[in-house]
Amino acid sequence: MARILLRRRGERRLLRGHPWIYRADVEDTEGSLEKGELVDIYGAGRRFLGRGYANPDSQITIRLLTRAPEPIDAAFFRQRIAAARAHRQRLAIPSTAIRIVYAEADALPGLIVDAYGDILVLQILTAGMERLRGVWLPVIQEDFHPRGIFLRNDVPSRLLEGLPLQKAFLDDPFDPVMIIEEEGVRFRVDITTGQKTGLFLDQRNNRLAVRPFAADREVLDCFCYTGGFALHAARAGARRVEGIDSSEEAVTAANGNTGLNALAERCSFRVGNVFDELRKLNDAGRHFDLIILDPPAFTKSKEAVAAALRGYKEINLRAMKLLTPGGILVTSSCSYHVNEATFLEMLEDAAADANVRCRVLGVRTQSADHPILLGVKETKYLKCVFLERL
Ligand code: SAH
Repeated sequence: MARILLRRRGERRLLRGHPWIYRADVEDTEGSLEKGELVDIYGAGRRFLGRGYANPDSQITIRLLTRAPEPIDAAFFRQRIAAARAHRQRLAIPSTAIRIVYAEADALPGLIVDAYGDILVLQILTAGMERLRGVWLPVIQEDFHPRGIFLRNDVPSRLLEGLPLQKAFLDDPFDPVMIIEEEGVRFRVDITTGQKTGLFLDQRNNRLAVRPFAADREVLDCFCYTGGFALHAARAGARRVEGIDSSEEAVTAANGNTGLNALAERCSFRVGNVFDELRKLNDAGRHFDLIILDPPAFTKSKEAVAAALRGYKEINLRAMKLLTPGGILVTSSCSYHVNEATFLEMLEDAAADANVRCRVLGVRTQSADHPILLGVKETKYLKCVFLERL
């Protein structure tokens, strides 16, 4: 096994809980770092710090697997996966679709496992996890006995690892369409064609949190996808719900889901660009009591944060103007590079420009099956703010 010696800065980050070692953190290497292979990590005074896997082609050259000198074998993965699973059981998530393994946040860097009923959807994000597949995959199969496994390796970050993008059944194909039930609301999901692994599991807790604000309300769900927020609002007694998404497939699915939930009379979804639609609704003098904004990430890089903030401000400002007094805005950003403080500042600017006063009812984040590691800011990406227009 190759060994690396860390520079001070890398050692400090590792000791503060961060599982990544960048190329510039490596002082010295004994043996050669091979793509996907295991490597032992040492710090000052040749102190053993842990064991991880390498990818010399990636900026993140090593990801930490363990801080102990233990073998990375089936028993190792069985224990990690069992811990991740036990945590989800403890959370008692009111849904049949749950993220069981969230990579670094479950000490399994580069691996995502989502359960959709008795089907598992996997994302293998790194060369190291690909290399170790023969060790952890049998453990997953034995422990879960899934009806089937689908690989959603169509994640662009795989390209940074020198891995191809791929979607495939692991073994024999099976029917990839299923009904997921989330706190009494049903969604038809196709895990092979849906966005992410089929549903936006990370927004589940926020979807549920809109319910107390929905009864008898006039609701607008922007970037509605298959109707997540909208259907929960309707189930909780909203008078009328309109949803907008630019994806025709998403809108078709959302309209299908209204029938599945016997909510078709109060819900309608349409294809549109939210930027244009908000302007049109403003021009038409429309008002809503509850507005949801859940856009895709407007930036995936540090460099584009300013442009992203202009986009966020535009939709938030327009939504604030559409709110009735006492109305609620539920506004999200999943751009990792826009942090919570910056997002709140943007909202303050938007409210000032819209000439409205707001009260912050909640500053929330991703669902608890997407845990956040203290000291690993990359594991926290979702902001969801509940505002009340005064
Ligand atoms: N709120 C949803 C998830 C939304 S994901 C849920 O809880 O399930 C973001 C959605 O925004 C995607 O469905 C994508 O198709 C849509 N989208 C992206 N750009 C858009 C735009 N300019 N106008 C409208 N929808 C857009």
